[in-house]
This record gives sequence, C-alpha cells and structure tokens, in this order.
Amino acid sequence: MKKVFLILTLLAISVGCNKKIKAEALKQNTETVMACAKEGVTLQILGSGGPAAGNGRASTGYLVWADGKPLVMIDAGGGTYLRLQQAGAHMGDIAFLGISHLHPDHASELPALLWSDIFSNRSAPLNVSGPAGEGSDGLTGFLKAVNDMATPIDAFTRINAIEVIPQKDSVITVYKDDLMEITAIGVNHANKPTLAYKVTIQNKRIVFGADQTLDSPGFIEFTKGADLLVLHLAISEEAAEPFTNLHAKPLKVGTAAQQSGVQRLVLSHLMKLDSAHLRAKEFSLWDINSNLKLVKDNYQGAILLAEDLECIPL
Ligand SMILES: [Zn+2]
Repeated sequence: MKKVFLILTLLAISVGCNKKIKAEALKQNTETVMACAKEGVTLQILGSGGPAAGNGRASTGYLVWADGKPLVMIDAGGGTYLRLQQAGAHMGDIAFLGISHLHPDHASELPALLWSDIFSNRSAPLNVSGPAGEGSDGLTGFLKAVNDMATPIDAFTRINAIEVIPQKDSVITVYKDDLMEITAIGVNHANKPTLAYKVTIQNKRIVFGADQTLDSPGFIEFTKGADLLVLHLAISEEAAEPFTNLHAKPLKVGTAAQQSGVQRLVLSHLMKLDSAHLRAKEFSLWDINSNLKLVKDNYQGAILLAEDLECIPL
C-alpha cells in the first residue's frame, strides 16, 4: 500500500512539474523578444533553415532594421510569422517584403503575413515583390491564390505588388523611396524563377543571394560593394542531383564569396535531415565543421553561421 502511495505521489509531482515546464516554455515563447540595436542598420535572421524540418530552425526569412524600425523583410518561409513576433517587429512597420522565389520554404508564410497585415496600423501600402513566372511560380499567380484563400476578405487592399522579370544579366530597380533602394537580379535555381536582392539603406548594402547554383552570369558583379553577403549553404560537397541543380556546394560558395570581394559572409539555409535518411550526408548540417572548412578554403573574409533571431549590425 505504501508503495502504491509513493508511486501516485511521484506521478502527481511529475505531472505538476510537466505542467510547470510547459507553462514556462509557453511564457518564454510568447515573451521572448530578441531586439536589435535601435540605431543604424542591422540584419536580423528570422529563419536560418531550409525546407527540411528539424534543428530548431525556421525556414528562410530575413529582416532589415534601420534605426529601430523593421523596414525590409526578405523571404517568408515557414516559421517566420512567429519569429517576426519574437523579434518584436510589427507587420505595420514593414515597408517592403521581397520574395526570392515561390518555393514553400521561402513563401509559405506569405498568406499568414498578408492576412495579419489586415489588422495592422499600416499608413502606406505594403510593397511586395517577387519573380514573374507561370501560374504560382510567379508573384501574381501566387497572390491570386492567397486572395482566393482569404475570401470574402480582400487581402490585397493595402498591397503594392511588384512582379519582377528575373533577368540574369541585368540589374532591375525593384523599389526606391527616401529611406531605401531595392534592386534584384535573376539567378539559377533549377527551373524556378528566382531573384537575388540587394537592399541599400543608409549607404549600407546587404545582398541576399537566395537559393541558387552560383553560376548565373551577373550575380558576382551584383554583389560588388556589398557590406554583407548572405549565401545559402544547403548542401555538402558530397551532394548529387537533383540537389546540385538547386544549390551550390561549399567550395563554390567560398569561391563566389571571394570573387565578390565582400568582407563578411553570412551562411544560412542550413539543412539537416534525419540521420537515418539515405541522403542525409548530402546536406550542410550533417558535418557543418567540414563544410565550413571547405568554404574557408576558398574565402578569406569573416564567416557568420546564421542562427534564428540573431542580430548582425552593419
Ligand atoms: Zn530554399
């Protein structure tokens, strides 16, 4: 009898502890605000992962702060809706949202973000850009699907949609106002229309390389003069097709960064598959130290490995 009582007591304590742990975790989730500096320009990582779930990373997304305002968001992969709140950012303050391409790990939170923006105190339309393409490969087709999803609410009432033809040999000015300039160039990511963006604010330039194989004709020239270059390290040197049609291997990432002349490189879109997966070794986080070494073999500048919510001042 004493034994049964002891077991029941331990069970009760354990359930109580679990409830407390869950409540604490929830509190942390809702209250964590990773605020960046209130002055100057800062890049904040919203999502440092790719399409495979795991490793605690949201899919791809970046936020550019200027003097404490989150002015520009690039990409909106799964998880960035929550990360944006954890960053202490409000949709109503974002002036420009650029989508590199319409794969789910870069665009799946777009419906949620546009839906939430209906409730923001926005004073001017949200500028949303993305590549031109067939059907949902293009921004217009994708936004039409989002709007159909939102019926009977018109989700487009405060959006200025900017569809950009992803030309690979000439730079396009996507958006410009008193605070910022956004330019773009097309890059190779299999057959998916894809844009790399350059964000210029307060004379600081950040290039977001997007998913690509780093062999499109105009990209290196596009990166020249950047203060910060964000490249995606999704795969390892052992990777094979179809992944090599979508992403560059570490040695090539290092070569491109070196050719760009950029002093600081952020590596993001880091990927880890379940270790039992037959192709797990083809992804960057399988052995990140070896992959980083390969990037460093070809690149002499500073390398930062992206982590969700990290702030990188310029
Ligand atoms: Zn991706």
